[in-house]
Amino acid sequence: MSLSSGVDGCGMSKQEECIKCKTAGFPNQLIGFKKSTRINPINGKPFWDLINPDNSEHEHKQNGTYLKHLKMVN
Ligand SMILES: [Zn+2]
Repeated sequence: MSLSSGVDGCGMSKQEECIKCKTAGFPNQLIGFKKSTRINPINGKPFWDLINPDNSEHEHKQNGTYLKHLKMVN
């Protein structure tokens, strides 16, 4: 049910629809998972990087415009 011990070794990564993108209005964004070399100090498990089908790094799509940080206005 979780990413526990079943996923190691063979570099096959299954792809699934990115929920975050889907939530933002961009369904059918397939992503794969690549085990990172970085370890999460909180649980001691490797981070998982999100990758696109072409192996590039996945960036979540957002609704149209990006929210820009407003400059501090008094
Ligand atoms: Zn995404």
